[in-house]
Amino acid sequence: MIDKGPVGNGASHGNCGLLCFSDVIPLCSPGTVGHEMARTLKRTSPLYIKPSLDISQMLWLLKFALKCTKAHKLTAARGKYEILNYSMGLFDSLLSLDGMSCDFEKKGMLTVFKNKKNFEAYQATSAFLDAYHMGAEKIEKKDLLELEPALCDDIAGGWLNRSDWHLRPDMLMDSWRKQLSQKGLIIEEHSSLIDFDIQGNSLKGVNTVKGRFKADFFVMAAGAWTPLTLRQLKLNLPVLPGKGYSITMERPGACPSHPLSLYEKNMVVTPWKSGYRLGGTMEFSGYNDVLSPKRLSNLVSGASAFLREPLGHPVIEEWTGLRPMTYDDLPVIDRAPSHENLMIATGHGMLGLTLAPGTGKIICDMIYGREPEINIRPFGIDRFR
Ligand SMILES: Cc1cc2nc3c(=O)[nH]c(=O)nc-3n(C[C@H](O)[C@H](O)[C@H](O)COP(=O)(O)OP(=O)(O)OC[C@H]3O[C@@H](n4cnc5c(N)ncnc54)[C@H](O)[C@@H]3O)c2cc1C
Repeated sequence: MIDKGPVGNGASHGNCGLLCFSDVIPLCSPGTVGHEMARTLKRTSPLYIKPSLDISQMLWLLKFALKCTKAHKLTAARGKYEILNYSMGLFDSLLSLDGMSCDFEKKGMLTVFKNKKNFEAYQATSAFLDAYHMGAEKIEKKDLLELEPALCDDIAGGWLNRSDWHLRPDMLMDSWRKQLSQKGLIIEEHSSLIDFDIQGNSLKGVNTVKGRFKADFFVMAAGAWTPLTLRQLKLNLPVLPGKGYSITMERPGACPSHPLSLYEKNMVVTPWKSGYRLGGTMEFSGYNDVLSPKRLSNLVSGASAFLREPLGHPVIEEWTGLRPMTYDDLPVIDRAPSHENLMIATGHGMLGLTLAPGTGKIICDMIYGREPEINIRPFGIDRFR
């Protein structure tokens, strides 16, 4: 395994840690564009698009808007459901391996609402999820405050989705690294890729800042950076970096017991035995890791609107990471069309942690010439042609 930095330091380090198996509905759904534009005008949107003359960003945004149809919602939901469900089964066995230590819990996720109308309207979302056996349970205000005394009194209610789990991603990455090293994986860190050695339609090796590595098969899984690594192969993948932020703290005194999705703020609060994290925002501002004080303070004010004690002390880490975003909100898991021994796994957007085991297993089956166990057509590169 070759990585330009320390392994596990990309988006997989500081994300919210939700295994959100119920997240079947694609981001590009009817109404998304209007809803976000209204929130942008009211300055309440967690979305920020930096004005740019970058043609690929403009095209990506246009294609995203064009995908916000009922038809795409249905097809994407079917594809997402299959790989979410597949990953759920695989996670169950991976996390029960000896030596896995990552504060893993199967408590579900609570979506909490400030506004009564939004709370009632979620009924339609839950009904849609019901078709995938992922429907949520409605919890009226009084019961919700009993279930989660950490919440403020002025909330409207919540929906509990029991099919979601959570864990601490940095601990998971450490545990996975130990497991894989014990099985003989060699990890070359600080080995940024320079280019590929190509012979005909196959790759023979990769050149990195630490030298040349040869292999029979290559898997490119460089998250949001994947399109940059494939430029030499003239493979134009529509994956944009979607920047998010998180703040990790010790647990506050009045700590929630479930992970919370704060609906009106579009952010997540994740409690673990060993800590507590606020995370969210979606910023399209290119490749950068600048920590914006404004976005970080938005997370704090968002949590303050819902929680009695929104912050724990001390703050352990303020972090930003780049999600690999596709405009149809489906991952890319496929063989490169131009090079038969190159596999590509990227574009997992807001769900890269959740979809990791399913993706890994599919890629493995493809390399060994086995038929993948689920339908992988929705994740093919062909769809971008
Ligand atoms: C704030 C936030 C919250 C999130 N919450 C969740 C959540 O709750 N649940 C969920 O499922 N997902 C969540 N996500 C999304 C998830 O984190 C990502 O989808 C996932 O981490 C992507 O994994 P990846 O392995 O593709 O990319 P990364 O984890 O970013 O890894 C890419 C790796 O490629 C390496 N690399 C890049 N370029 C090169 C090069 N040229 N040479 C060598 N190596 C290179 C990088 O160093 C890095 O280690 C969240 C994301 C953010 C930002």
